[in-house]
Parts: sequence; structure tokens; C-alpha cells
Amino acid sequence: MYPTLTIRIKHTSGDGASRYFRRGIALLAVFLATLVIYADAKAGKLYRGPVIDAHGHIGGSFDRETMDRVTSANRVRAMTLMARYYPGPAGGRDRPGDDEMGLDLAVRFPGRFIPLVGMQRPILADPDDWLNPDDAVKALLEDTERKLASGKFRGIGEVIVRHFAYTRGKYAELNLPIYSTFTQALSRLALKFDVPIVFHMEGDPALVKNFGRLIGEYPKVIYIWAHNCGRSQAPAIRQVLTRHPNLMCDLGGMTHTGIQTYGAGWPRMESYTALMEVNGKFLPQMQAVYEDFPDRFMIGTDIAHARAMNDQIYGRRIRRFRQLLGQLSPSAAKRIAEGNALRIFKLKN
Ligand SMILES: [Zn+2]
Repeated sequence: MYPTLTIRIKHTSGDGASRYFRRGIALLAVFLATLVIYADAKAGKLYRGPVIDAHGHIGGSFDRETMDRVTSANRVRAMTLMARYYPGPAGGRDRPGDDEMGLDLAVRFPGRFIPLVGMQRPILADPDDWLNPDDAVKALLEDTERKLASGKFRGIGEVIVRHFAYTRGKYAELNLPIYSTFTQALSRLALKFDVPIVFHMEGDPALVKNFGRLIGEYPKVIYIWAHNCGRSQAPAIRQVLTRHPNLMCDLGGMTHTGIQTYGAGWPRMESYTALMEVNGKFLPQMQAVYEDFPDRFMIGTDIAHARAMNDQIYGRRIRRFRQLLGQLSPSAAKRIAEGNALRIFKLKN
């Protein structure tokens, strides 16, 4: 199915100018549709089933009608919402979000948005508070417990552990202890309410060891390691998935659909980081991982800032995922597109 191009033109008068305008718009629509078909033919087989966007965010300046429109237009049946409490780089045009916004969307568009208890918070930027939670962090844990007890939130995240800076400021470059009193407390909450936790942690081998310690201590908790398991290389991903049956990974932001995407190696690569695809083709080693572990991955667009939540950027990312999923066996594609997210977030099919 191609997205339908709907054009609404106000019928004010039948004068020549507006007739020419209408004809021009109609020609433009045909031209654009032809471009889309041409691009698809070039891309090979597309995955055409419904998908679930398992790595979504909300901020204070996100336009909710746009979020509804872009997900519907791209046949995204549901999207997770992880509130970004950090201020955005664009200041007043990219205000911080909160969990209540996620709840509001879930009520307005039933079944289409899945709120998680957001953890991209200014109060979580100091490593000392992870080792010895101060009053603010203790209050956050209590608040998280209350929110999960309400049954309205389907998980915890995104918890930012190791983050490479792409802006200036206090919440840009972050390095926090993955094995700590705070992450253990979150794990106990996840266990109590049977919900997953999403972690953002670049795959530095020294950190992976400590992450393994945490995952091993809570074998009944599902941990979701965002961004293709911290942008790790294929052998490292195989190792960690084999070792920990309770670990999932999302492919949030891993499409190479712009210069500023994790899929392009942005904002920087390290010796342990890897890409997932090049020019819309899975790297062979990664493709083999997805075929061998089809129950362990989910897709995600990872749009965290208001300026990128639009038809072009969102649509491009989902289209690229459809192109990539089309390269997998049908059963692996279906599970990564939606089946795993249905199971992990306990959504009704
Ligand atoms: Zn992330």
C-alpha cells in the first residue's frame, strides 16, 4: 500500500486562477506518487504489514495531531512514548515533555500510543545519585511506583546511561553507572509490575560487563537495550543475546536516513560501535543476527525533538524500516515489525 495523497482545496470560486492552481496541485501529486513508486521499485521488496514503533518520545513542543497523522499515514499501529524531560537544544521551540503528555495521547488515541515512565530527566545526570539516591531520586522512584501501579504505563525508559553528546550542555555527554542502587531499584519495580526497562547505553565493553551483572541478577525482568544493543558489533550482540535470554534490543534511530542519525554513526563512532545498514541494505553480519534472533528485536524511529516530528522525517524512517524488513524472511520480519512489541508491551492483537 502506498500512502494516499489527499489534497483538500477550498472551493471558493471557479475562476481560472484557482482552476490552474488545482490542476497544478493535481499534477504535482501525480509526480510525487510516481517518485514514491520509482523509489520502491529501486528498493526491492517492502515489508507491507502493520508495524509498531517501539522507540518513540514526547516533548513539550511536539504537535499531537502531527503524531497521530504521521503514525496513521505510515501504518504504525502503535508507538511507545518516552517523555524527554530534558530541555531541547532549540529552547522554547523544543520544550521538555512529561509523562502526563504521554497519558493524554494514550487517552485521546486509544491503543495507538503506549506511555512508559520517562527517565530522560535532569535529576539523573549525577553518578553519585545513582550510587546513593538523594531525596529527588528517591521521590522519582516512589512516583514511578505509583505510575506503574496505575496500570497506565507499560514500561520504564528511556534510562540514559552512556550517551554521546550531540548538543552542548549538561545533559549531552552522560556517563552513569549501569550497575547501581538506582538501576537495581528500577529493576525491582520492573519485576513487581512485570514491565520492561529501556536503556540507552553505548556498547563500551567495560559497561557491557556491568550491564550483564544487572541483567543476570533479575532474570525475570525484560531489559531493552536501545539502538541495536548500544550500536554494538554483530559478534558482541550475538554474545550478549545468547548469554541473557531476558535481553531485547530495539533498532531505535538506526536507519541511515539523514546525517544526524545513529544509523549514520552520528554523533561519533568508537572502536566498538557499528552500523546496521548502508544505503537501505542490511550489513550481512547484522542481517544474520536478526535472522538468528528474530524474537529479540523491535523497530523504532527515535524522534526525540520537536523539529523532527514531521511527515518527512518520520515517514522516511518508517519507509527505510519497511525496505530493510523486506530483506528478511517473512516470519523474522513480522516479529521484528510488530510481534515482539505486542508481546513485550502486552498489547492486544
Ligand atoms: Zn536513546
